[in-house]
Amino acid sequence: ELILAIESSCDETSVAVIEDGNQILSNIVASQINSHKRFGGVVPEVASRHHVEQIIGCIDEALKEADVTVEDLGAVGVTYGPGLVGALLIGITAAKSFAWANDLPLIPVNHMAGHIYAASFVSDMTFPAMALLVSGGHTELVYMKEHGSFEIIGETRDDACGEAYDKVGRVLGLKYPSGKEIDQMAHIGKDSYHFPRAMMKEDNFDFSFSGLKSSFINLVHNAEQRDEVLDNHDLAASFQASVIEVLVTKTMRACKEYNVKQLIVAGGVAANQGLRSALEASVTAELTEVELVVPPLRLCGDNAAMIGAAAFIEAKKGHFASWDLNAKPSVTL
Ligand code: ATP
Ligand code: MG
Ligand code: FE
Repeated sequence: ELILAIESSCDETSVAVIEDGNQILSNIVASQINSHKRFGGVVPEVASRHHVEQIIGCIDEALKEADVTVEDLGAVGVTYGPGLVGALLIGITAAKSFAWANDLPLIPVNHMAGHIYAASFVSDMTFPAMALLVSGGHTELVYMKEHGSFEIIGETRDDACGEAYDKVGRVLGLKYPSGKEIDQMAHIGKDSYHFPRAMMKEDNFDFSFSGLKSSFINLVHNAEQRDEVLDNHDLAASFQASVIEVLVTKTMRACKEYNVKQLIVAGGVAANQGLRSALEASVTAELTEVELVVPPLRLCGDNAAMIGAAAFIEAKKGHFASWDLNAKPSVTL
């Protein structure tokens, strides 16, 4: 069965054609990042306008690259939230019109479920599973006892992990989004500044990144006032060491407590090389029974392929949308 999937929750317009939930026939991603860079973040109005301009072309391209026609499709999947309301509405409107005109069922997909289901292109999901969901707007540990079942067992109390990367990057004078660049700098520097590891010893699965961000900003500003020069690579390495130690420690603990068979890492920050290798090392050392599933880099950031994979599961469960499907900007899993 072929699903045409549409994603427009933030700053990438993406359309994919997915076969049986786990094969990518095409996955077109039109990023707007160059239009947002000069503002240091995503500007909602700019995002919506880009989606309007890109969406039709992306649909055509996705069908062409997959070498299929509309008649071959079985359903249309679309992200309905969470995300920017104006951005979501462009994708939803396109998906509804396309599905209505071609007499296809419409499948509503939660963007965060999509991030998790990027894993299904790597390996079959086996349950129970734990997902570490780390992105620009979310940091969560999600327990899954079966397909489509999500229990958030812990989450950030303040900033999301990717958000912390982007804010710290701004202080270092890096361009938005700065996660990838900090990751690269961190490999050159060393953890010489020893930032705090928030909530690591607390008996829960929650996270906090705003204290780390404040420590970082204070250190840099105090140094500036004293005309001291800090090593940016060491700053990046120290920041990243704190983030990774907390994420890995709590994730390992969650996997043990919930006795999972699989650990899925998902979301934009799952592209982090330091995090990927630290998790791999810990799983190999401590959780020999657990399969670590990490999507390839191009499927960590926002894309429609992951939405198609999640849509396939929703359809199997009989979850379809009616024609009055609306955007839900702050829906949770
Ligand atoms: P959400 O999925 O929560 O709605 P989003 O869709 O905006 O938010 P994603 O696209 O999943 O977020 O991820 C983007 C985030 O990932 C940005 O904050 C970016 O800095 C971060 N990121 C990307 N690559 C890396 C990396 N290698 N290391 C750390 N962070 C990274
Ligand atoms: Mg993005
Ligand atoms: Fe995302």
